[in-house]
Amino acid sequence: MLEQAPYAVTAANSRGRQHRDTQPLHRGEFQRDRDRIIHSTAFRRLEYKTQVFVNHEGDLFRTRLTHSLEVAQIARGIARALRLNEDLVEAISLAHDLGHTPFGHAGQEALNDCMREHGGFEHNLQSLRTVDLLEERYATFDGLNLCFETREGIVKHCSPDNARSLGDLGERFLRRTQPSLEAQICNLADEIAYNNHDVDDGLRAGLITLEQLEDVSLFAQHVAAVRACHPGLGGRRLIHETVRRMINALVCDLIETTAANIGVQQPANLAAVRRGPPLVGFSAEMGEAQRLMKRFLRTHLYQHYQVLRMASKAQKIVNDLFSAFTANPRLLPQQYQAPATGDQVRRVADYIAGMTDRYAIKEHRRLFAVGES
Ligand code: MG
Repeated sequence: MLEQAPYAVTAANSRGRQHRDTQPLHRGEFQRDRDRIIHSTAFRRLEYKTQVFVNHEGDLFRTRLTHSLEVAQIARGIARALRLNEDLVEAISLAHDLGHTPFGHAGQEALNDCMREHGGFEHNLQSLRTVDLLEERYATFDGLNLCFETREGIVKHCSPDNARSLGDLGERFLRRTQPSLEAQICNLADEIAYNNHDVDDGLRAGLITLEQLEDVSLFAQHVAAVRACHPGLGGRRLIHETVRRMINALVCDLIETTAANIGVQQPANLAAVRRGPPLVGFSAEMGEAQRLMKRFLRTHLYQHYQVLRMASKAQKIVNDLFSAFTANPRLLPQQYQAPATGDQVRRVADYIAGMTDRYAIKEHRRLFAVGES
């Protein structure tokens, strides 16, 4: 294995864990973080949570679990090429969506609206709350007791108000310093993963078409290259060949641009990375291509009437659950009738956020359909 770069995160420069913990014998600290995340309850629930499509809509669509695995795969490739900490990017990638509500963005927006008077709801912060507090697996502490750098990578963005409540983890949002390069990588690996799998899933669902995508420069360029090499290729193979080339082009551009940025800045160590400008990024040209793809997906996929119909049902489910539970917390399962050191309303949000799509649908039926139990 290549030696890590001097500015990579290591066990030696880590700011450590919140609670005293044993030393792992045959693993590194960040391997252990990854392992704890994989064994968590919240991680298993990712299988039944979705981003754009609802879980029961089809077996082939990405779930948050397969999305997280794709993010981890992309992030590891980038981290290895740049001689950064692969175990750390894997841990961050696998944990980054743990706090997501059921029903993707629609669920998150609905819960955030419900929580407006109570500090709001933000999935990044909920992911952190999950690994810091909500997982109940260890004898001597709540949560998973992950390393600072893993937790830092999970909190991608944060309002100044929330940052003040996060202690040392919130400092960088107030001082406007950078997180580790590993955290920066995960942020963009997430984008690469969802843009590409949403193209793939959107085509499979028939919500967007090849003809529409040919107006998007990134797709047009790669589908043309595939057709030039393989005249007559069509159907799923044409789509997969195009999507894999798009992912590869984005990843290569990111690695090369970042390596060049590092070459210019020459950070001596991790502290210099934190003080400097953001170093992980795309070239101007690729950044623009990626932006146009995002805009296309927003207009044609995320705003598609069939997606919006599902979103509106999701909103109703979340709103109804929230109203019923806050009006009468005794309807909640015992373990959510306060504490977890939060107030009762926050516990309602914890309960709803932890639900899978199908569990939320079932719970809604149990509460509102007469004759169900
Ligand atoms: Mg994600």
